[in-house]
Amino acid sequence: MSGDGALIECESLVRIYQTGPVEVQALQGLDLVVERGEMVAVVGASGSGKSTLLSILAGTDAPTAGRARVDRWNLLSMSRADRVRYRRHTVGFVRQQTAANLVPYLTAEQMVDLPMTVAGVPGHERRERSGELLEALGVGGCAKRRPGQLSGGQQMRVAIAVALANRPHVLLADEPTGELDTATSAEVFAGLRDVNRELGVTVVVVTHDPAVSGQVERTVAIRDGRTSSEVLRRTATADDGGTHIIAEEYAVMDRAGRIQVPRDYREALELTRRVRLALEPDHITIRPDA
Ligand code: ADP
Ligand code: MG
Repeated sequence: MSGDGALIECESLVRIYQTGPVEVQALQGLDLVVERGEMVAVVGASGSGKSTLLSILAGTDAPTAGRARVDRWNLLSMSRADRVRYRRHTVGFVRQQTAANLVPYLTAEQMVDLPMTVAGVPGHERRERSGELLEALGVGGCAKRRPGQLSGGQQMRVAIAVALANRPHVLLADEPTGELDTATSAEVFAGLRDVNRELGVTVVVVTHDPAVSGQVERTVAIRDGRTSSEVLRRTATADDGGTHIIAEEYAVMDRAGRIQVPRDYREALELTRRVRLALEPDHITIRPDA
């Protein structure tokens, strides 16, 4: 796996939660590389470690072991002061519950203003930036409204604007469409895509909505705290000039050469503990241990 020039690079990432005598391995050696300017969807069953991954990338949780780098920051060895700087300027984070992102008594523009005030941005610049961001997310008309006066979709778009206030390189969004109906969720997702394309922000979005993950070029699937597969989508032009989308699924190999063989493949050939591997000129075969 390359990734030296990538914006985000996680390798063999482990996060163990200890609650009393019980140990939960939320991440069990996860690998992830995200290039600058990419938009990546992360999918996986509930409990597979998606929120844990995002909290680590957001700098709000620390990994137990492995490697995690975002931009020039090593997330395993950041000082407290660096962590504050990192959270303020490198990443923007949109949390899983819409309400957790907003302050009930502030208007949309006051909420976008707040992180800039904390960072010491001058007043005229703050006003310009918050107007620009709310406009870019299609909620310019909601600037004077409080969360209670906004629809679910508008609340989420304001939350995205707040997360982008200090011009982070990366936007992390944890199931931003989870509580929304299909039409509203498509709108919020379109907002994320605009942010990615027009503002050049790298986006990592967790979703369990297949319709949403179908709209990004790369989807990373997490299973049991590990990256299990990736789907890459590209647009191809047919002979008649029409375009269509090709989606290809890849298994993910870690640095030690381990890959996970999908369950349906294993069952189809009754692959169990040992398999036969053979190197061919341009591929590898895996056969049952007959
Ligand atoms: P997802 O977002 O994919 O649903 P999470 O990252 O929230 O998954 O959780 C992964 C696993 O870690 C789950 O088994 C969950 O119960 C456990 N977990 C998450 N946060 C904590 C915590 N603070 N303390 C103990 N266990 C946790
Ligand atoms: Mg979650």
